[in-house]
Amino acid sequence: MLDFFKHSLDKTAEAIKHVAPKRKVTFTKDEIEEILLEADVEYALVEIIMNEIYQEEVTREILESKLLATMAWTYYKKPEYKAPFVELVVGVNGAGKTTTISKLAYMYKQEGKKVILGAGDTFRAAAIEQLTLWANRLDIPIVSSKQGHDSSAVAYDTIDSAKSKGFDNVIIDTAGRLHTQTNLANELIKINRICNKAHEGAPNRTLLIIDGTQGNSAISQAKAFNEMIGIDGIIITKLDGTAKGGSIFSIAYALQIPILYVGVGEQPENLIKFDKYSFVDKLLDTIFVQEEAPKKEKQIEDETEETPEMNVAKTQETDELTQFLRAERLILINKVSDTKAFVNYANTPVDTYIEYKNNKWSYANS
Ligand code: GDP
Ligand code: MG
Repeated sequence: MLDFFKHSLDKTAEAIKHVAPKRKVTFTKDEIEEILLEADVEYALVEIIMNEIYQEEVTREILESKLLATMAWTYYKKPEYKAPFVELVVGVNGAGKTTTISKLAYMYKQEGKKVILGAGDTFRAAAIEQLTLWANRLDIPIVSSKQGHDSSAVAYDTIDSAKSKGFDNVIIDTAGRLHTQTNLANELIKINRICNKAHEGAPNRTLLIIDGTQGNSAISQAKAFNEMIGIDGIIITKLDGTAKGGSIFSIAYALQIPILYVGVGEQPENLIKFDKYSFVDKLLDTIFVQEEAPKKEKQIEDETEETPEMNVAKTQETDELTQFLRAERLILINKVSDTKAFVNYANTPVDTYIEYKNNKWSYANS
């Protein structure tokens, strides 16, 4: 899974190399600004991040906290529901709806779930054929109608069939474009209503598919869909073929809707659960080198006066500090003494002290 994440950032890493050819321990603020812009983080968001960095020397930890803060709303909790779990998949033509539906269906099937698909993009005959092809390949049932038929009726029939046959998951495709935008809005609103009529609470999740190669230009489009019917989660496709990996931060920040999965290829298995920590880690790996290894060698050379015991004690204490910082998602601002440090919360600009007491690190005054 981690390799997949790396793969999804290959092109973005190449782009970053244009402005930062060598990985380093720290970068200046100007360098970081250039790197983020090169990775296609939207200009306005880069400015916000820059305003929140107070240090001239930017370390991995500082940038990590700022990047994670842009995705503070990526947390998704599955709602309470009565089976089947109905998902409605929306997005513009070519975004990757049909492909992503087959990926989700494949994943659910692997989990031992009974899945049924609804070919709700009745606007194009090719769309119905494409989903049918995938359903056959994956050996999953599909409900479809002829081109031009009512897509709400397809949604209703799919859910109805799932209920009577005891299916776990229903995934419904939709059109990405109709004759006018108003037509599309009306159709999606109607499908939404009919789903709920077929099964109370459905759709249990409305997923917006965004084409990752469009970068930040997908944001306004996504806002339009959110206003039309309300989006519960986002899936970003085609990350394997784009240098715009940084736009994920702008998309998450602008929409404040959780990113659930990313698509990294055209095959059913090319879907990765989105984890912001792994994603940020992988991106930072392409920019920074780790400081620890060379530093330890130097310590052994320089600190000849210290006894081995002292070295061990110090290392242990530092490890505990690192662990505490990681667990609490804090950034170290300044280690004032062996037992006191000034830290910053990862997702806020609030500063505080931590101290080493009773053989462990904890917040001062707590
Ligand atoms: P729809 O119009 O929204 O249903 O989009 P499709 O599912 O038909 O996908 C449009 C094109 O994008 C197809 O050629 C897909 O194979 C391709 N595609 C979709 N997802 C991915 C992805 O994650 N990676 C790559 N490389 N191609 C993708
Ligand atoms: Mg389609």
